[in-house]
Amino acid sequence: MDAKNIRNFSIIAHIDHGKSTIADRLIEQTGTLTEREMEDQILDNMDLERERGITIKAQTVRLHYKGKDGQIYELNLIDTPGHVDFNYEVSRSLAACEGALLVVDAAQGVEAQTLANVYLALEHDLEIIPIINKIDLPSADPERVKKQIEDIIGLDASEAVLCSAKTGVGISKIFTEIIDKIPAPSGNDSEPLKALIFDSYFDSYKGAIAHIRVFEGMIKPGMKLKMMSTGKTFEVTDIGFFRPTPVNVGSLHAGQVGFIAGSLKNVKDIRVGDTITTVQNPTKEALPGYRGVTPMVYCGLYPIDSGEYNNLKDALEKLQLNDAALVFEPETSIALGFGFRCGFLGLLHMDVIQERLEREYNLKLITTAPSVIYHVYKTNGEMLKVANPAELPPPTEIEHMEEPFVKATVIVPNDYVGAVMEISQEKRGKFISMDYIDNRVMLVYNVPLNEIIYDYFDKLKSTTRGYASLDYELAGYQQAKLVKLDILLNGEMVDALSTIVHIDRAQPRGRQLAEKLKKIIPRQMFEIPIQAAIGNKIIARETVRAMRKDVLSKCYGGDITRKRKLLEKQKEGKKRMKSVGSVEVPQEAFMAILKVD
Ligand code: GDP
Ligand code: MG
Repeated sequence: MDAKNIRNFSIIAHIDHGKSTIADRLIEQTGTLTEREMEDQILDNMDLERERGITIKAQTVRLHYKGKDGQIYELNLIDTPGHVDFNYEVSRSLAACEGALLVVDAAQGVEAQTLANVYLALEHDLEIIPIINKIDLPSADPERVKKQIEDIIGLDASEAVLCSAKTGVGISKIFTEIIDKIPAPSGNDSEPLKALIFDSYFDSYKGAIAHIRVFEGMIKPGMKLKMMSTGKTFEVTDIGFFRPTPVNVGSLHAGQVGFIAGSLKNVKDIRVGDTITTVQNPTKEALPGYRGVTPMVYCGLYPIDSGEYNNLKDALEKLQLNDAALVFEPETSIALGFGFRCGFLGLLHMDVIQERLEREYNLKLITTAPSVIYHVYKTNGEMLKVANPAELPPPTEIEHMEEPFVKATVIVPNDYVGAVMEISQEKRGKFISMDYIDNRVMLVYNVPLNEIIYDYFDKLKSTTRGYASLDYELAGYQQAKLVKLDILLNGEMVDALSTIVHIDRAQPRGRQLAEKLKKIIPRQMFEIPIQAAIGNKIIARETVRAMRKDVLSKCYGGDITRKRKLLEKQKEGKKRMKSVGSVEVPQEAFMAILKVD
């Protein structure tokens, strides 16, 4: 394929504005799949994505389209996730493209993530094609949305494509726009090879697979290649593209998007953002890599069965290949044993990783409550970065502490401005700015990341009836009065239940947490006192009363099925329990802090 007939593009949008459905229509209209192979949101191929109705991983698919000029075009489409947690995924995909389709819901209009994604696309110098989707909806107001795109984003929307991914209206116009407006890739087959790894995954047959964009040169099987960041060399065994399942081909040329597999023993040898070149005729300069990811949220992951530790390690390594934003390092907990402290981009990301570990790798895990990274300035002049509350030094050694803040951008209809301000203040937010856009308001607050993790967005959503959209980015550290809140079960401190909280919240949170734990921890053969403490000071106490010993004896001689049911129910409940000292603690308990307020 001549490079002038290639177009590489992404689809970006706020969540639910219709990216994946537009991708479906594009795939359908190019006849890439047969009707039988086609299903809704075809690119969301992970079970988890289908169940939750969201895109988690970016996916690529190569389409062939016959243009009005009679020529065949190769369109490489990369569908991307819309949730703020997965911005990193979006950013990587964009580096492989020349253009982006910006999808905006004709009824919802521009939302916080629409803006965030446009900024990412502009950072990568992409040609942006505005598309107003869902014009079939009775509440659609394309003219108003056009005006928003111009006023808020500053893009010319006069030629925005009006479409409905549901009815198919406007889809063919999208193809014409892609071909006419997105630049063909530049690059030359005869130059030394320069290919960017923009994603990767682990295939149990072929091993590590890299998604690549070839910028210069070409690749054929049998070639000896080199990773520029590590100098690791390997021989290419498989080359291909996605349709969206992998299809092998004989070569990949300058401008093309596809995958390669090779004699790479270690999954760690593939680094997303790295440049691949040839051993024989290497390029002098690597492509600009990616900005490193900064995990926002950390939690402990522990196998329920401590014999699974190595399997967990192996699973994390493989998953990291498919998710460069995941970081982890070993940690030990007195209560939970050997595990890992893992860093994530947000709570959804954390949730997704935990679920993928359990499903794809068959592990049973205990997750501890998420924490941000605190900067702890010690009296001896040292500064510690603490991601695990259990590792906080004693108060006497702490001079002061700082916590991370984010710049939170909220877009909401006029009527809800008061509610958003109230919640933001309650969450220790500091007002930055307020702008009226059309019939809506864009509010910017600096909010402690810690509060965002708790329930800032849930609260926003519920008080604005789902109308508020939120985007946030890290905005540095600020001093705050923070303390460690400990939990004692049966008189023993459980390190995995400790959290760091603002001093003003410590008392009520401690009380509520003890109450909550009382409901979560099942009765056992003995009485279990639950205490919340700050330092040596106990601030709350609850008791889980002992189980009545005659629970089973009651069924004696009587109904055997009832007895069996009772035992099964107990077993079921045990599945996600971890013995901490003498107390059986269910998974829920470790997350209880998120549920109090
Ligand atoms: P994504 O999060 O941007 O990938 O959005 P999806 O493609 O998953 O779509 C979100 C929801 O909007 C789904 O329920 C789609 O069926 C629906 N949807 C997408 N496009 C249209 C459209 O043009 N009209 C209508 N009425 N619904 C649409
Ligand atoms: Mg999607």
